[in-house]
Amino acid sequence: SKTRHFLIVCLLQQSDGLACKWQETTALSIGTHADKAAIDADVTVVGSGPGGYVAAIKAAQLGFKTVIVEKNLTLSENVGSILSKALLNNSHYHIAHGKDFATTGIEISGISLHLEKMMAQKSGAVKALLGGISHLFKQNKVIPVNGFGRVTGKNQVTATAEDGSQQVINTKNIVIATGSEFIPVPGLEIDEESIVSSRGALYLKKVPEELIVIGAGVIGVELGSVWQRLGSKVTAVEFRGHVGGMGIDMEISKNFQHILQKQGLKFKLGTKVLGASKRPDGKLDVAVEAAAGGKNETLTCDVLLVCIGRRPFTQNLGMESVGIELDNRGRIPVNNRFQTKVPSIYAIGDVVAGPMLAHKVEDEGIICVEGIADGTVHIDYNCVPSVIYTHPQVAWVGKTEEQIKEEGIPYRVGKFPFATNTKAETNADTDGLVKILSHKETDRMLGAHILGSGAREVINEATLAMEHGSSCEDIARVCHTHPTVSEAFREANLAASFDKAINF
Ligand SMILES: Cc1cc2nc3c(=O)[nH]c(=O)nc-3n(C[C@H](O)[C@H](O)[C@H](O)COP(=O)(O)OP(=O)(O)OC[C@H]3O[C@@H](n4cnc5c(N)ncnc54)[C@H](O)[C@@H]3O)c2cc1C
Repeated sequence: SKTRHFLIVCLLQQSDGLACKWQETTALSIGTHADKAAIDADVTVVGSGPGGYVAAIKAAQLGFKTVIVEKNLTLSENVGSILSKALLNNSHYHIAHGKDFATTGIEISGISLHLEKMMAQKSGAVKALLGGISHLFKQNKVIPVNGFGRVTGKNQVTATAEDGSQQVINTKNIVIATGSEFIPVPGLEIDEESIVSSRGALYLKKVPEELIVIGAGVIGVELGSVWQRLGSKVTAVEFRGHVGGMGIDMEISKNFQHILQKQGLKFKLGTKVLGASKRPDGKLDVAVEAAAGGKNETLTCDVLLVCIGRRPFTQNLGMESVGIELDNRGRIPVNNRFQTKVPSIYAIGDVVAGPMLAHKVEDEGIICVEGIADGTVHIDYNCVPSVIYTHPQVAWVGKTEEQIKEEGIPYRVGKFPFATNTKAETNADTDGLVKILSHKETDRMLGAHILGSGAREVINEATLAMEHGSSCEDIARVCHTHPTVSEAFREANLAASFDKAINF
């Protein structure tokens, strides 16, 4: 039959820096959009974000003939996490070189920001990563199809490309991994220039003089930090009474807020945004009021960033045509094997319940297809860590002190401040603490909360401990390298298990 060959090739020539095109080459054997011959597959994955691409690679590795359908010619939507991390890293260099180095005896003068170059570096990093994925598709013989994927039968997906051409895939199994989109604020129209979503905030062409962020959750404080470090005056308006979003321990949140305020970020907690209007001078007037009602105020900014959360992207997927109803939050209901009520249709990632995190969705991608291959499917959402990639970082896994109290579990707390950690002290980077929560009777670790430099790495040790059901004594008795940040983690476990740390 007429076969042609496809490969995703990531290009970086577009004006906003990133484009990843699904291009014709001579690598993989599939029907083209032009000839429209239907493809037969064992597994068809719809969506190529971290959930979808990992599921596709794993399915192919397990011997399934695998197709992946992606609607975007540019894959920039699903790399928000990578783009934001590149900007966080580079903006941290900017501030560290401009300020913190002064205390080290190294004097640097003439620091200036070349925003275009910073944006280009970030896009270059993503280009390399996406190039790696396209290579993996080729290596594992995953067949990429460009188009909007729609379920057109219990064993069929139809991909419609932008030019209207369609590709039918007849498939034994379907994995929906279509991800999420930002939640808009009613009445605020996103133009991605003065009123921006988290995506637009990654592509601003100049540093706003004043930036207001609606939402001081994970993405809000990360992006707020980026632009504050680059010179913006940043105010985050948050409906809740704390920063850091859902799941953060309140003691850690308070400390975190305090540190961010020292860095220059301003917070208006317990406050809601009522609307925004453009002034003749191009600035925005943003009306806010106390969440509990009452006090009104008008704030001013050049850019308003809407960051109030994300919702599953499940529109027009054709789920209802096969009898699958979405839940009240637009998510696809699945069982513990990620199977919908139609046994041949699975769903993973941001479209199903659970934290919207790239590492969670990658794990789901792997175990979902292992389940299709009759393997065991297990994920413990209590052991999915969370990280806020600010400076210092915040990372946690397991329960917060508030949750433990609410559940009436007898518990102990072990804390260790970075102010007495050798590595933090030598690096002059002593903000933060480690807080460990353990079961009072069994010593089993129930939660680990780290605020400090290196938290994003150390949290993986805590996650391993929690997955293995370790006691705090188990960790306290493991030899840790010196001088490292992870010694603070060990010391907090000592404090939880034996009431006393050594160095505090
Ligand atoms: C700014 C930002 C920063 C973030 N930072 C982090 C972080 O640091 N760490 C972390 O763990 N998580 C982070 N996240 C969250 C993380 O990006 C998501 O949890 C993750 O991308 C979800 O993966 P997914 O595969 O479910 O969906 P997505 O990544 O949303 O991918 C879905 C894909 O499906 C495609 N698609 C949708 N519908 C169709 C269709 N009908 N047909 C074909 N294709 C379709 C989309 O174009 C997209 O490519 C961040 C998110 C944002 C926005």
